[in-house]
Amino acid sequence: MLKVENLNVYYGAIHALKGLSFEVNKGEIVTLIGANGAGKTTTLHTVSGLLKPTEGSISLLDKTITGVEAHKILGMGMAQVPEGRRVFAKMTVQENLEMGAFLRTDKAEIEESYENIYKKFPRLKERRKQLAGTMSGGEQQMLAMGRALMSKPDILLMDEPSMGLAPILVKEIFDTIVEVNKQGVTVLLVEQNAHMALSIADRAYVLETGKIVLEGNAKELLNHEDVKKAYLG
Ligand code: ATP
Repeated sequence: MLKVENLNVYYGAIHALKGLSFEVNKGEIVTLIGANGAGKTTTLHTVSGLLKPTEGSISLLDKTITGVEAHKILGMGMAQVPEGRRVFAKMTVQENLEMGAFLRTDKAEIEESYENIYKKFPRLKERRKQLAGTMSGGEQQMLAMGRALMSKPDILLMDEPSMGLAPILVKEIFDTIVEVNKQGVTVLLVEQNAHMALSIADRAYVLETGKIVLEGNAKELLNHEDVKKAYLG
């Protein structure tokens, strides 16, 4: 579904990604874990077209997307839920969801998508006229996810959905990621909360200062001594 090869990204003189390669197969939940500054967000932004790599290639559903603009990549089936949620604060819940569907023209199916999302997140339905900026952190995370799902993606990229949320909400969000995945959406999940991420993922990559240092089955990595020491406390 998604294949990344030898990705190199610089911010000026800072070499943020140093030859990163990984892949996500159809139907999987794959997680990229790593400490602050390891390059997780940079990786997602490069894959989704917000940053351009100096070297390397990215392909989505066997089409090369290296250097393709972000909105075109969205149209090709990849949606991103950004770090810190970043919903449109001055718009209502309903309007935020509408924004997620802006590339779609299939009116009847769009209605169906609203219904699906409101079914998945009843809280959003109750509050569909509320301004997004006045929602709680957990509600905003659900809205950001709902907005991304409104584009009907084949693959969903999620940047640290657990950030700033109470453990009970983190559990709820992660349960939703599993549910969305079961309904056929492939997931690439970037997380600092390695324990939660590894417990729902099929496979995982460990990122340290712009390089993948370990990869494997997520459940096996949960029991890996180096991972336990460095990321699971
Ligand atoms: P966090 O979990 O803290 O968000 P991360 O793993 O997502 O961390 P990135 O945000 O991808 O890490 O950062 C990777 C490296 O690139 C860091 O050293 C960071 O300081 C640097 N970096 C990120 N954005 C920029 C930028 N706009 N300009 C310069 N350096 C940057």
